[in-house]
Amino acid sequence: MTTPLDITLLQAHISSLASLLRTDRGVEAAGYLYFGVSRIESDPWEECPRLRLVSHRVQEIEPSDKIGASGLHVTWSTRGFMRMLSAAKASGLIPGIVHTHPGSRAFFSPQDDSNEAELARTAGIKGTAGLVSLVFGGDGSVCGRLWLPDGSFKVARSVQSVGGRFRRWLSGIDPCTSSDHLDRQARLFGSQFNPTIRSLKVAVVGCGGTGSAVAMLLARLGVGQLLLIDKDFVELTNLNRVHGARRTDAENRIAKVEMLKREIEAAGLGVQVIIHKGWVNDESIRDGIKSCDFVFGCTDDHSGRITLNRLSYFYGIPVIDVGLRMMPWKSNGGHDINGRVTTLCPGHPCLLCGGIVSGKRAAEESLERSDPQEFEKQKLEAYVVEGGDPAPAVVSFTTEMACVAVNEMIAAITGFQGAEGMVPTRYRRFHVRDERFLAVTKVGSCQVCSVSTNWGLADVDPFLDLIR
Ligand SMILES: [Zn+2]
Ligand SMILES: [Zn+2]
Repeated sequence: MTTPLDITLLQAHISSLASLLRTDRGVEAAGYLYFGVSRIESDPWEECPRLRLVSHRVQEIEPSDKIGASGLHVTWSTRGFMRMLSAAKASGLIPGIVHTHPGSRAFFSPQDDSNEAELARTAGIKGTAGLVSLVFGGDGSVCGRLWLPDGSFKVARSVQSVGGRFRRWLSGIDPCTSSDHLDRQARLFGSQFNPTIRSLKVAVVGCGGTGSAVAMLLARLGVGQLLLIDKDFVELTNLNRVHGARRTDAENRIAKVEMLKREIEAAGLGVQVIIHKGWVNDESIRDGIKSCDFVFGCTDDHSGRITLNRLSYFYGIPVIDVGLRMMPWKSNGGHDINGRVTTLCPGHPCLLCGGIVSGKRAAEESLERSDPQEFEKQKLEAYVVEGGDPAPAVVSFTTEMACVAVNEMIAAITGFQGAEGMVPTRYRRFHVRDERFLAVTKVGSCQVCSVSTNWGLADVDPFLDLIR
């Protein structure tokens, strides 16, 4: 069986290509791209290896290297091409070429087949791990393939554009995934919505009040593949807000992820649910996370959030992070009830810039897990500032923020809230009936979100360039 391939194009790269490739009507144009490589040893749903390429950088073909362009094809000199191959090889990236078919949909023409076979042979001789080729159609469609050093090629079964918007071009629709029960939403969002939703692999990290609601909503929405991650059992005090949880689950110490899988499967919606009872940072679930198209962060833990924060930029996987803070006002009997949804993707400011995660708290959590004795000692000596009593939580607020989070994913796919798709940060203040869109600015020196050198790099050693 051949390894399935998919290609992620960061929206920022598509934008720069769009201006690069804009030419006189009907004339083909071309540009270069470099791709990071995400090797998935075993996709947990498909139980087979997968390959995802993520765009890392765009490079213009210098005007002096262009030989000619017509409505049928574009040619360019090999000098610039050879330079690009060398640069890709030196940085461990896969080189790519992109050209347009202005008058038609995206497809590979017989002319492309013969031109690219020649270029791929050159790339093979130069020693790159392959050569990507993309075609942008005049109707907005995109198709892609990877030429391998042996002269064969692999067509990407999907190409997705990732940023505030998420667009996916599928090379074929899996006929065995029925979505008859999703008819009512196709009536709102059109016939392409359900096949896109069905194709998605989505992780929910943290399956408490918010995460359990997110998981249930995603299953109803028709997401085809879910990955649920949580280390805890259902407890009696969860029954006020964790969807699907029963008293017997608490009595029998059933894991939250097992309970949710049971409930989702019982609904018969055709969702494939994979569970991981543990931390998102566990190496054993890395392939699962890398396989995803969206990740929902519904956890309070800082080290998990730091991982998701980097994942989004390195792998081009949108992360939708949800947090709530509720407390009674001690003095005048009022309340402070806040919900937040932050969406992460290359181009948006990250959780560090938003002041939402703290490196210090993450280090403390790691210490608590790896050396509980030392953690307790430091806590006594007040070196660590661990969270206090169990935080207040009310189901209507946690569930509402779960809806807000899932709606961001729908906004990314459909643009129903505007062409920019997901809003970077949204605060809902329940106690004063308002919602604010905070203008978080990227910290200029932020190594995660403001420096594009990490964007789309995909696999690096150590994972996400994180030193633990
Ligand atoms: Zn062509
Ligand atoms: Zn940042």
